Amino acid sequence: MNKIVMTLLMLLVALSVAQEKIQFDDYFINQALRIDLYQFGDAREEFATIDQMYREAIWPGNPNHLIDPFNNGSYEVKVYDIASNKLIYSHGFSCIFAEYRTTTPAIEGVKRVYERSVRIPYPKRPVLFVVESRDKKNMLHAIFTQKIDPSDYHIIRETTLPHDIIYPALQNGDPHTCVDLVFIGEGYGVDEKEKFKGDCDRYVEVLFGVEPFKSHKDKFNVTGVLRPSPENGMDEPRQQRYKKTTLNASFNALDTDRYLLTEENKLMRAIASQVPYDAIIILANSERYGGGGIYNDYAISTVDNERSNMVFPHEFGHSFAGLADEYYSSDVAYNDIYPKGVEPLEPNITAYLSPGQVKWQHLLSPGIQIPTEYGKDALDSLQLMKRKIRQEERKELEAAAAKKASDKKRDAIKKKFRSQMKAVDDNIEAIREQYTDVYDKVGLFEGAGYSAKGLYRPMVYCLMIYHPENEFCLVCQEAIKRMIDFYSE
Ligand SMILES: [Zn+2]
Repeated sequence: MNKIVMTLLMLLVALSVAQEKIQFDDYFINQALRIDLYQFGDAREEFATIDQMYREAIWPGNPNHLIDPFNNGSYEVKVYDIASNKLIYSHGFSCIFAEYRTTTPAIEGVKRVYERSVRIPYPKRPVLFVVESRDKKNMLHAIFTQKIDPSDYHIIRETTLPHDIIYPALQNGDPHTCVDLVFIGEGYGVDEKEKFKGDCDRYVEVLFGVEPFKSHKDKFNVTGVLRPSPENGMDEPRQQRYKKTTLNASFNALDTDRYLLTEENKLMRAIASQVPYDAIIILANSERYGGGGIYNDYAISTVDNERSNMVFPHEFGHSFAGLADEYYSSDVAYNDIYPKGVEPLEPNITAYLSPGQVKWQHLLSPGIQIPTEYGKDALDSLQLMKRKIRQEERKELEAAAAKKASDKKRDAIKKKFRSQMKAVDDNIEAIREQYTDVYDKVGLFEGAGYSAKGLYRPMVYCLMIYHPENEFCLVCQEAIKRMIDFYSE
C-alpha cells in the first residue's frame, strides 16, 4: 500500500471516529440526573429498580467523553436516545452489592438490599436507561431497563444550595475539564470544623505527593464538605463500639475486620451534590487502621492512623481508577471473586502468562523472566506469621473489650503485637534484599487479587499491595493517568 492511500485511509478512519462521537449539546443540558437505585438479591439472583430521581444543578463531567472506554466494574449504565436508538452515554461502576454477592451469606441464599446511585448528564429528550450486570465470565447482561422522560414531574428538583460547611481546598478551574474531588467529613463533631479543614489540607498534600497525581495536580479541584456528626468516631461492631455519625460509616463491613464502608448512599450523594464532584472521598475521623474503595462509587479512609497516608491513596486507587488489590495474604470476605480461567477486568492484575497477552506488555522490562522470581515462597511463610500475629491481636482486643478493659490496657496489647510484627518485618526485609535487582522492573509477579497462585501483578511493590515509599507501580500509574485524562482532556 502506498503512502498516499495509507494516509487517505487513516483520514477516513479518523473522520468516521469523529462522526461517531456524541456531541454533548445534541443530547444533554449542563445538569445532572441522579438516579437512585435499589439492588436486591443474593449470589444466585439479582434485581435492580429505581427508587427516586433528582435533577442536580451541574454536570461536572467532561462533555468530550460520554462513552466509557475502560470496560471495568461489575456493572455498566447505558443510556440510549429513544428517537435514534443511539448509545449516548455509558459508565462502568461497582458497588457494595456486587461484593456482597461473593460473600458466604449471599452464597447461602441470604438476600440483601443496597442503595446505589448513578448520575448521567441531564437528557434533553426521552432516553432508555439500562443497567447491565456482568456474569462470571465478565459478559454484560441487562438486568434493568426503563424509559426516562426528562420532563417527568416525578424527577425531584430540589434546591441544592449549600447548607453544610464547604471548604475549597484546591481550586484549579472549570469542573468540566478538571477532576473534581469532594472530601466528605464523617465522624467529626460540631466542634471539629477546623480539624476537618486541616485534614482536607493534609490529604491534599498526601494525594498530590504521589505520582501520577503529583504531576497532574493542576487538573484537580478539591472541595471539602462537612455535616458535623452528633458524636465523633466510627462504629466498630467487633469492639462493640457504636457512634452516632452522619453517614453511619462502620468497620467490619461485610464482616471483615479493617473494612470500613458507609451504606448511606443517598445521604452521601445528597451531601456531595452541594458541590461539583466527579469522585467522592470520605475522610473518616478515626485513629483506627482501615478504609474501603469501590470503583466509581466512593473511597473512604480513616485520617489519624499511622498508615492513613498509605490507605488513603490505595482506596482512591480502587474508586478512581478501578485498580484491583494486588495483595493476596489478608482476610477478605469474598469467594471466587476472580474465577479461574477468566481474565480480570482491572488493569493491574492478570491471569495470563504469555507476554503477548499481558495487558501491560508495552511496559514489561526488556528480557524480564516470566513469571518473575522474587523469593515468594519464603515471603509467603513470613506473611502467614504476620497474619497469625494479627489474628492473635484481634482475639486479645476482643477479649479486652468484652471485659470492658481500659484504653490503657488496650494500648498495651497493641504495643506488644507491634513489636512482634517488627521482628517478622525485619526477616522480610532480609529476603527482599536478595532480589533487589527485580524490584524496579515490570514483569509478572505471582500473587495478586487475593490469590497466592494463578494471578500476577506488574511489580513487586505498589500501593495496591505495599510500597515502602508509598508509590503506585508503573502500570497503576498509567491507569490512573488514563482516568485523569478522561476527566480533563
Ligand atoms: Zn500496581
